[in-house]
Amino acid sequence: MTLEVEKSEMIPALSQWAPCIRELVERLPEKVFKWAIFDMAEHPANTFAHGRVALVGDAAHASSPFHGAGGCMGVEDALVVVSVLEKALSNISGLSKAEAVTAALQAYSTVRLERSQWLVSSSRDMGEIYQWRYSATGSDPMKIKAEIETRSRKIWDYDVDQMLAEAEGECERRLKLSGQQ
Ligand SMILES: Cc1cc2nc3c(=O)[nH]c(=O)nc-3n(C[C@H](O)[C@H](O)[C@H](O)COP(=O)(O)OP(=O)(O)OC[C@H]3O[C@@H](n4cnc5c(N)ncnc54)[C@H](O)[C@@H]3O)c2cc1C
Repeated sequence: MTLEVEKSEMIPALSQWAPCIRELVERLPEKVFKWAIFDMAEHPANTFAHGRVALVGDAAHASSPFHGAGGCMGVEDALVVVSVLEKALSNISGLSKAEAVTAALQAYSTVRLERSQWLVSSSRDMGEIYQWRYSATGSDPMKIKAEIETRSRKIWDYDVDQMLAEAEGECERRLKLSGQQ
């Protein structure tokens, strides 16, 4: 994930930057770390749950850091997982514990898949937008601002209560289905 390199490797990349930035680089130690950035955009999981096993956070949907929200997605996942597990285990009626947990985790996966994978692909776009490589916004500051705001609002203005209500509804549906089998 990281590679130790000579500071001189980064100097040409910043040669057109403002003097204060170049001066800052001069003050760095001779050895610096190069960070690789990986995401799961090309390999989205088709489910986050199988039986009594589920993936949450980066294990399920690792993202690049350009939205600054990968950690938040993991926290939202955790909130859904605890709420569906609580619902399923307090309402087992006729099912085994394993069946209830399976239904709960399937509900978690259903509710979280689209949003968390949107973040992975949008975060990739954000990297392009910041570097003026995104064709729809190019180097136009007003277009860039509007695009960043629209995408960020999707993260900031998310209705968490609505998400939990959906998760509980989906969990109930799946518990009923398991009971009928
Ligand atoms: C440069 C950068 C900037 C970021 N900025 C932000 C930000 O501003 N806001 C934000 O919300 N998110 C940000 N993120 C994303 C955020 O850091 C991650 O989404 C978050 O840390 C994922 O949490 P996690 O618990 O899912 O996984 P991790 O944090 O990766 O935790 C997994 C843990 O499991 C441990 N582990 C692995 N294998 C095993 C094993 N076999 N046995 C036991 N333990 C094991 C690992 O050591 C690790 O501690 C950023 C990420 C990067 C790289």
